[in-house]
Amino acid sequence: MIKFLDLQKINILYQAEFELALKRVLQSGWFILGNEVTLFEKEYAEYCETKHCIGVANGLDALIIIIRAYKEMGLFADGDEIIVPANTYIASILAISENNLTPVLVEPDNSTFNIDPTQIEKHITPKTKAILGVNLYGQTADWTALNTIAKKHNLKLIEDAAQSHGASHHTKKSGSLGDAAGHSFYPGKNLGAIGDGGAITTNDSELAEVILALRNYGSFKKYENIYKGMNSRLDELQAAFLRIKLKNLDKENHRRMEISNRFLKEINNDELTLPFIEPHNISAWHLFVVRTKNRAIFQQYLTDKGIQTLIHYPIPPHQQLAYKELNNLSFPITEQIHHEVLSLPISPVLTEQEVDYIISTINEFKV
Ligand SMILES: *Cc1c(COP(=O)(O)O)cnc(C)c1O
Repeated sequence: MIKFLDLQKINILYQAEFELALKRVLQSGWFILGNEVTLFEKEYAEYCETKHCIGVANGLDALIIIIRAYKEMGLFADGDEIIVPANTYIASILAISENNLTPVLVEPDNSTFNIDPTQIEKHITPKTKAILGVNLYGQTADWTALNTIAKKHNLKLIEDAAQSHGASHHTKKSGSLGDAAGHSFYPGKNLGAIGDGGAITTNDSELAEVILALRNYGSFKKYENIYKGMNSRLDELQAAFLRIKLKNLDKENHRRMEISNRFLKEINNDELTLPFIEPHNISAWHLFVVRTKNRAIFQQYLTDKGIQTLIHYPIPPHQQLAYKELNNLSFPITEQIHHEVLSLPISPVLTEQEVDYIISTINEFKV
């Protein structure tokens, strides 16, 4: 069986280094917000080419805290609206509703799967405060267009970079494309921890200060609380592990790129539509998502041939029970995407033989 993503095989590569990191943390006697978190924040800010990085507990919290910080700064208020792509993972939308703001869903571009900038302006109202752009499947959204719209309407730009570690748009790195970005280090992400983790990157020093307090009980100084904060700290041990993974991220992303280049060149089957990457984008290839009208048959065929695939995602947020208030809305492009997409294995530990086998098996598929 070719696994969709063999996390055991990926992480075991670093076992010796992880063990040294564990020893270092254990012997330091400092387990929360210590040296490893500080060093990871510095290294990840450098990687994203931003002034600041603040480690948090997970990717959802990263997005929640960015929006909460803008509320504390008096820029957003309950009932304000944030524009977000309709086909994103539900976390992007939860971050908005969790803050008592209203998510305003906008259709994606049918070829990139990212928010369609031409559909945004008709959804802007006096209550619109931000666009939450998502770099879905590893490709950055059209941040050039999003920037133009944000400037014109005086909106904040929040980047959901959970799937795009290492990606870029023109010459700018994912994590530096908006006013602030939320990152997830969930084990299955390109930069994955050995558990949960997340971070926020930004060039806005005032925002970074507020976020720094919010992640730790709204406090800069122990027992003095300026905000009603959260406990959302990046674990010291996870930070130590992430420093090791970060050193290897470009290498792993490069392998993902090699595999996707082979898929793009060598998969040749009229039943399938292959992913499209804009020429000015470098994708992190978090997922390699193909489309077919016959998804159920195609997925079963691959399963029978020993190739594991996943669907990202089977049900769009506006059709989830959790969002009854959105259930009456219709997003035809989003709905069609959810019926047709299938993610092929694209983990950096796939062998050339496995890639050969995936390609030839797919090329033999007939309905
Ligand atoms: C994974 C993910 C998140 C949330 O990250 P967690 O660390 O699981 O909380 C947010 N947005 C997107 C697009 C994601 O893929």
